[in-house]
Amino acid sequence: MSGGRVPEAVDVLVVGAGLAGLHTATLLAGRGHDVLLVDRRPGLTGAIRTTGIFVRRTLDDFAVPPEHLGPPIRRVVLHPPGLRRPVQLTSGRDEFRVGDMAPLYAAAAAAAVDAGVRIALGTRYAGRRRGSSLLVGREGSTRVRARFVVGADGARSRVARDLGLDRNTHLLIGAEEVFEVPRGQGPPTFHCVLDPSLAPGYLAWVVDDGRHAHVGVAGYAHRFPDGLRRALERFGASAPGLAGVERPAEVERRGGPIPVGGLLRRIGCADGLLVGDAAGAVSPLTAGGLDPCLRLSVHAAAVLDEALRTGRPDALAAYDGAALRTRFRGRLLLRHGLAQVRTPAVATAAFALLRTPLGQAAARRVLFGDRSFPSPGVPSRAPAGPSARPARRA
Ligand SMILES: Cc1cc2nc3c(=O)[nH]c(=O)nc-3n(C[C@H](O)[C@H](O)[C@H](O)COP(=O)(O)OP(=O)(O)OC[C@H]3O[C@@H](n4cnc5c(N)ncnc54)[C@H](O)[C@@H]3O)c2cc1C
Repeated sequence: MSGGRVPEAVDVLVVGAGLAGLHTATLLAGRGHDVLLVDRRPGLTGAIRTTGIFVRRTLDDFAVPPEHLGPPIRRVVLHPPGLRRPVQLTSGRDEFRVGDMAPLYAAAAAAAVDAGVRIALGTRYAGRRRGSSLLVGREGSTRVRARFVVGADGARSRVARDLGLDRNTHLLIGAEEVFEVPRGQGPPTFHCVLDPSLAPGYLAWVVDDGRHAHVGVAGYAHRFPDGLRRALERFGASAPGLAGVERPAEVERRGGPIPVGGLLRRIGCADGLLVGDAAGAVSPLTAGGLDPCLRLSVHAAAVLDEALRTGRPDALAAYDGAALRTRFRGRLLLRHGLAQVRTPAVATAAFALLRTPLGQAAARRVLFGDRSFPSPGVPSRAPAGPSARPARRA
C-alpha cells in the first residue's frame, strides 16, 4: 500500500478509499478481478469525515471488527431548543456503536490488500479521456486503462461528472469535535438537539459512549446564522450530557458534506458506476451513510463481477438508482419536513408532538427501527439473517 508504481491496465479502477471504495474493491478482488484502488489522501487514518455511528442492522449483517467498536448505546435523549424537558428513549437492544474509525479504515485496507487489491495512496484521480484515467501522485502523473471505473470519491464526485452520471445537489454540511472522556460516568448516550439556530435543517449531537465524546452540528450551509464553525463553538459551550467533562485543549476535528437528496437516479453506465456518498446513498432523514455505502457496494460488486465474467457491459443496466430510489419516498418526505423547521419556536412546538405516545412511537421507529438501505430485490423490511450477510468483512 503506497504511492508506488501504478499499473498500465486493470479490470477496475476504484477512486476513493472510504468505506464504500474499500468494500467494493475487496469484494471484486475476492472474485478474482484485477483492482486498483486510489485515494488522494496520503494515509487512510487521517482527515476522517464521519462520527462513525454504526446501527444495529449493519453490525448484524457485516462483520465489522468488534475490537474497533465502542460500547453499545441504547439510550437516546432528544432535546428541544433551550434543552428543557428532553424526551428520553431507551431501547431493549444494543442500537448503536461508534467505530474507532482510524483502525477500522486500516483494518479494511489490510483486508483489501489480502484480497489482492493494489492500493495507491497520495494519488488523485484527475480526469478521464478515451477510456483512460489520469492519476496524479507525488512523483508526477500517469494514465491507467480500466475496463470499469468506480466512483467512490464522496459527495462531490469527480468520477460522476466524468462518466456523465447524476451528481449530488442537496447537501448538508457537518462538523464535530472528538475527545476522550473519563470512563464510567453514566450509560452510553446519544443526545440529539433539534434547534435550527444551531443546526439549520438537521441536528446538533453529543455521542458519549463512555470512551469518547463526539460533539457536532450539521445543517444547510447557507442557513447557519454565523457559519458552521461558530455554531459548533456555541453548541460546544452548552452541549448536553457533558456536565463534569472537561473539553481538552486539543481535540480531533472532523467534518464534510453529507448528501441528503436520496439515492441518485443514474448511478451506472457502460463505463462504470458510483457507490457510497458519490451515489447519494445516505438516509435523507438520519444522514447515516455507513450502512447504505456497505449495502450498495455489495450490489455494485455483484453487477461488475457479472459484467467482467460475461464480457457484457449491459449487465450494468441492473444497477439502477431510479428503481431503488422509490423506496426512499417516506424518508425524503420526512427530510422535507425537517428542512421546514426554521425557527426555535417551530422546533419547540414539534416537541409537544414528540411528548405524546404517538410521537414517541414514531421517534422509536426512526431511531430503533429495523429499516435499512434497501437491497435490490429484497423488501426493505426483510429480516436480517445468515442469508442476508452480504460479506464477511467491512
Ligand atoms: C460530520 C459527519 C458525520 C457523519 N456521521 C455519520 C455517522 O455517525 N453514521 C453514519 O452512518 N454516517 C455518518 N456520516 C455519513 C458517512 O460518514 C458517509 O456517508 C460515509 O462515510 C461515506 O463513505 P464513502 O466511502 O462513500 O465516502 P468517503 O468516506 O467520503 O470517501 C471518499 C474518498 O474519496 C477520496 N477522493 C475524493 N476525490 C478523490 C479524487 N479525485 N481522487 C482520489 N481520491 C479521491 C477522498 O479522499 C475519500 O477518502 C457522517 C458524515 C459527516 C460529514
